[in-house]
Amino acid sequence: MTDLEASITRIATLESEGMNATIGFDTAAARAQPHADTGPLAGIPLAVKDNIAVRGFGLTCGSRMLGGYRSPFDATAIQRLRDAGACIVAKTNLDEFAMGSSTEHSAFGPVRHPIDPTRVPGGSSGGSAAIVASGAVPAALGSETGGSVRQPAAFCGVVGVKPTYGRVSRYGLVAFGSSLDQIGICADSVSRAGRVLHVISGRDPRDPSTADRDPFVPAAAATSLKGVCIGLPQEYLTDDMDAAVRAGVDRAVARLRDLDATIRDVSLPHTHLAIPTYYVIAPAEASSNLARFDGVRYGLRVDGPDVRGMYRASRGAGFGPEVQRRILIGTYVLSSGYYDAYYRKALIARARIAEDFDRVFRDGVDLLFTPTTPTTAFALGARTTDPVQMYLADVFTAPVNLAGVPALSLPIGRAEGLPVGGQFIAPAFDEERLFAVAEALERMVPATEEVR
Ligand code: GLN
Repeated sequence: MTDLEASITRIATLESEGMNATIGFDTAAARAQPHADTGPLAGIPLAVKDNIAVRGFGLTCGSRMLGGYRSPFDATAIQRLRDAGACIVAKTNLDEFAMGSSTEHSAFGPVRHPIDPTRVPGGSSGGSAAIVASGAVPAALGSETGGSVRQPAAFCGVVGVKPTYGRVSRYGLVAFGSSLDQIGICADSVSRAGRVLHVISGRDPRDPSTADRDPFVPAAAATSLKGVCIGLPQEYLTDDMDAAVRAGVDRAVARLRDLDATIRDVSLPHTHLAIPTYYVIAPAEASSNLARFDGVRYGLRVDGPDVRGMYRASRGAGFGPEVQRRILIGTYVLSSGYYDAYYRKALIARARIAEDFDRVFRDGVDLLFTPTTPTTAFALGARTTDPVQMYLADVFTAPVNLAGVPALSLPIGRAEGLPVGGQFIAPAFDEERLFAVAEALERMVPATEEVR
């Protein structure tokens, strides 16, 4: 059986068991996908979050709004994957328009955690993380605006990467918060994630926000971390996190010391502003980006008595409650009476958060190491009635998107059977060190062993 056939069979089994990790899974469409026979990813089956355009597949964004929409084109990242020989087998389930941290905000139903089906896989790229964790594909694309690859990767026990803003083209990624969005990668190992990033990164004339840099080239894993200074931000290591997550981080730090890294306590004093800042900026940008879904240009249309009535009926029926909440918040913080009080202030706070990272990296810290999430995977339904609790799942991931720097989450152990993730954060465009050090730690920590 080819890798592609094995992957299709495995996905079909998972879906028949009710994981719900994919949207519109179709074995015939998967077999009919064009791909090159040679190249660095030849014959490798990959899954793609359903907010990234893949010709020949739907592009629902987990929304009723785009329920029947099919993509007429490939995102740049997809075109590059195909040119490298990869085959796209499935589109993965997500929180509607990538807004959420549990994949419970999908119009197509929640994704189940791959180890414990009573729990969430994290989100919004929950389908991508769950399908990789289940062994159906070695890697899957996701998208990050505030942690949507790293957080589900941590919950599901796989590697999750958020590249530097501008590293990967956003052409064909449905926009959520354009100044924050990046395509990211869930993978079964650090080196696999690196090989995928190598293929999809690099300048794209179709996305003027891509940086004019050569594609990322992975280096060999570091065998010693002598001379590498790793900072531990004290604001990320408070008592707010689960004791088990803390134990996992402590064990990983001990391994970094065994590798001869220099460990230094550092401070990122504006960390507490990240969640409020993110939840002004991301909804502001979303309210503008989602204006295009008006019942005329794409997807669902519900007629009304006049044009305004048609807009209202289409958007009211097409968008779920979390998306509507974001549009309302975003419109509010951008409105003339509140722009200075909220949006302008958030931009100032964002600059402070970015300066925190700049300062520690200028002071000789090469990488930061933190927990990826404060808790392990929570129960289905536990946070759906309390949006703020849901938002707090991203306290350790959202600052990275606000600053535009790259970060990587890797599994560092289990707590009562559930994966714990550790996160490295690097200066902008230093993915080379990020991957080399993460791979060194990956070799040292028993990812599936209990942390205490
Ligand atoms: N959970 C965050 C949100 O709901 C981040 C989402 C993301 O990264 N796409 O906005």
